[in-house]
Amino acid sequence: MAKKYAIGMDIGGTKIEIGLVDRYGTIHHKKRISTQANRQQEVIEQEIIQTIQEFHDLGKNFICGIGIGVPGQVSAKDGSIVFAPNLNWHNISLKKKIEEVTSLPVTITNDGRAATWGEWLNGAGKGSNNIVCVFVGTGIGGGIVNEGKVMSGYTNCAGELGHTIIQMNGPLCTCGSHGCFEAMASGWTIAKKAKEWAYNNPSQGKALLNLTNGDISTISAKLVIQAYKEGDILAGQILNEVMEALTIGCSNMINIFNPERLILGGGIIHGLPEAVDYIKKRVKNYALKAATSTLEILPAIFTEDAGTIGAGALAWHQHLNSSKNKETLI
Ligand SMILES: [Zn+2]
Repeated sequence: MAKKYAIGMDIGGTKIEIGLVDRYGTIHHKKRISTQANRQQEVIEQEIIQTIQEFHDLGKNFICGIGIGVPGQVSAKDGSIVFAPNLNWHNISLKKKIEEVTSLPVTITNDGRAATWGEWLNGAGKGSNNIVCVFVGTGIGGGIVNEGKVMSGYTNCAGELGHTIIQMNGPLCTCGSHGCFEAMASGWTIAKKAKEWAYNNPSQGKALLNLTNGDISTISAKLVIQAYKEGDILAGQILNEVMEALTIGCSNMINIFNPERLILGGGIIHGLPEAVDYIKKRVKNYALKAATSTLEILPAIFTEDAGTIGAGALAWHQHLNSSKNKETLI
């Protein structure tokens, strides 16, 4: 029977999104549930399995498989989640449990890599065999497609772009290192910088403080972008620094992987679309001419549901490449 949908699921620290995704990356039915990461791991797992069962029942025999993106590292050997820091999950074999209840193939991968699958198969990377995706959200994630293959690395943790170091002895990162790309240019960094600056220079950060009713602790990256758009000088200075760090981080990716297309996505890029043009102009100052002369820098196509669409795209890829499913291609 010809399949119509894959189940795509994006597990995050604050929310879990699930959708029925067709071959072209369109979501036909979706649901969002709160992760409430402080709950017991077994309780969250149970809710994930129940939700997948619910979607499985909706599609019955028309579902080709299940793809799941998680904010952490996944074992290459058995697809278990090795470590997901935001959820505080260690060595979870979610794949096996879901396969048992649905009898469908389940593929679990890192969330940045899942979103890369979506952009490659159905988004801004479609038609190219050499892309690098950089997703700038709360943190920085990404993925690399090299010569038509999504890079996984020896222990399946390739693509942790956010933890490449761009400043020796720089600010502390969530991974324990200092000066990581993520610690210089992500959403959490923008919020942290803005809180520090507003605290130290309350007169300069007046517009920013007005947006929070004077409560520094509620400053978020989204608010900083809003303040910048309203002409706040402090917010502009913070975003300038972040854009320069983003340009340097992207230049490193360009020099290492020499992609045909560099694709920029994530909440910060969507909130500040002019960042794509800024980086496009500035990377020439840092990256090699041989790598930038034909390079295209593009915004990601998928925005809010990028993780779910990408996880669905991965499930489709697994299905279409499995020889026993060749007869269902038409
Ligand atoms: Zn780091």
